[in-house]
Amino acid sequence: MATLDPLPEQYQKQLQGKLLFTAKTDLLPNGHFGAQWIAITENEITVWHQEGPPTLHVKITRLKDARAVGAIGGGTLIADTHDGPVVIGRYTAALTPVFNFAAKLLGALAKREELPVLSERDLPRNCPTCGNPLGEGTQICHLCAKRARQLSVCFVMRSLTGFSWSVRRYCLFSRRWSSSSRPI
Ligand SMILES: [Zn+2]
Repeated sequence: MATLDPLPEQYQKQLQGKLLFTAKTDLLPNGHFGAQWIAITENEITVWHQEGPPTLHVKITRLKDARAVGAIGGGTLIADTHDGPVVIGRYTAALTPVFNFAAKLLGALAKREELPVLSERDLPRNCPTCGNPLGEGTQICHLCAKRARQLSVCFVMRSLTGFSWSVRRYCLFSRRWSSSSRPI
């Protein structure tokens, strides 16, 4: 089974069939921050928003294909069913690799192909320096890069003008700004 976030027990009890994948989203269907649980078994896709019964069921037999559609800052996992497209979940860019994998898995289930295996490339990555989630296909953390740029500006200004009060104020402000702009 491919799992990044172990599914809470109260949800596991509601599942039918072999569990293949579980993940927790970080956005709600309306785009606000919040968590939804998604479980994929060999029989169905199930989604929960809060404790209680599932908010969405899609039978694998109704599935034609699946897509992870990217947008600015995140994406949407969509199941293409015989009744039309169904939004399974939304997520921020940090979780893009996870839901790209979910789309591949659902596509393989729909077409009865060999199921993909979760690899390291499908895991979300974080900056080793500040912990900020890294975008797909990049090793560069934009927060650390911005901070490095500000510090180098400080250095150049300092060497050109001496450590005047205006340079001191700029450097102090840059440092405060870059530490306060980190995500929670
Ligand atoms: Zn960083």
